[in-house]
Amino acid sequence: MNIYDWQVPLWRQLLADVKNMPHAMLMAGPQGSGKLAFAQALAARLLCEQPGQGMADDRMACGKCSSCIWLASDNHPDFRLIQPDDGDEASEEGGEEVRTPATGRKVVRGPIRVDQIRALADFVYLGSHRHGNRVVVVSPAESMNLAAANSILKVLEEPPSGVYFILVSSSWQRLVPTLRSRCRVVTFGRPESSSAAQWLAGKGIAKPAELLRLAGGAPLLAAEWAEQGRLESYNEVIEVLTGKPVDPVAMAAKWGALVKAEHAFGLPQLVETVQKWVFDLVLLKTAGAVRYHDAWRSRLEPLASRASAAGLMTCYHDLLRIRAVAQHPLNSQLFLEDTATRYLRSLSAPRAG
Ligand SMILES: [Zn+2]
Repeated sequence: MNIYDWQVPLWRQLLADVKNMPHAMLMAGPQGSGKLAFAQALAARLLCEQPGQGMADDRMACGKCSSCIWLASDNHPDFRLIQPDDGDEASEEGGEEVRTPATGRKVVRGPIRVDQIRALADFVYLGSHRHGNRVVVVSPAESMNLAAANSILKVLEEPPSGVYFILVSSSWQRLVPTLRSRCRVVTFGRPESSSAAQWLAGKGIAKPAELLRLAGGAPLLAAEWAEQGRLESYNEVIEVLTGKPVDPVAMAAKWGALVKAEHAFGLPQLVETVQKWVFDLVLLKTAGAVRYHDAWRSRLEPLASRASAAGLMTCYHDLLRIRAVAQHPLNSQLFLEDTATRYLRSLSAPRAG
């Protein structure tokens, strides 16, 4: 159970007053910033019998006591990790389609159900097996359906002593406000880019800074993309976007071939790529800056200068709408042609409105 280098300041801040650790915490931050690893390290620390013994950093779990060993073998009687079940059949209410990082395979991830929370009752109210702390980690917290959220809220109203709830969320805005207000919110910002890039480079990942920018500064997401070869796919999409002017049908055909060949790069990823590209065109046109595509600046500039700000904005908003249905378009060829048409139109002569 370890934390990432870029989380050390946050860890120190939180552990400075361990005796008054809040009983409900919400780890809130962007996807891919390592919140779950942090939550698990915190759980280990709260459960550890001799924290700090023999470790360079005196505030981490020891990794050697019986508590740490149980935790490492997923057998700790005083620890619960609540997550959605994976299923590949029809989704339940609140279910969400996700791609597994390792394989890019699509699975339907169900919600965290109320019976999963109710099953915690004995754990929470009957007392510790080992007369120490008990910890529940819920991840991702926004997967709780309404009944589950209400059920956990009841426990959080009067948490028994020694019980800690750690909720983990990338979309904490989606949590019911009463639940958010019961928790101390621990905010995970974007890690400092040089330390995140260094961490990626240390894993043998090529072009870490470039990849990190595309992943919006989230190192774990960047690492996942590197594993999927996503930078290559990304570059291919951009080659098409910046290539010789073509008609939408030809553009769509190239994208279609790419999506077909790459398991981890589907229509949603493709639209996201185009959207980020158009975002940078807008930013370059209006503010002279780019957010994601620093390495492609020389390619962005001629496109931005010939397009109108209004046309680009329209395209950006169109893409937001398109992205919402990219998971299941009725006809993927038409879908790609529509995306290409809107993009090419935004680059042509300024239009009214
Ligand atoms: Zn320990």
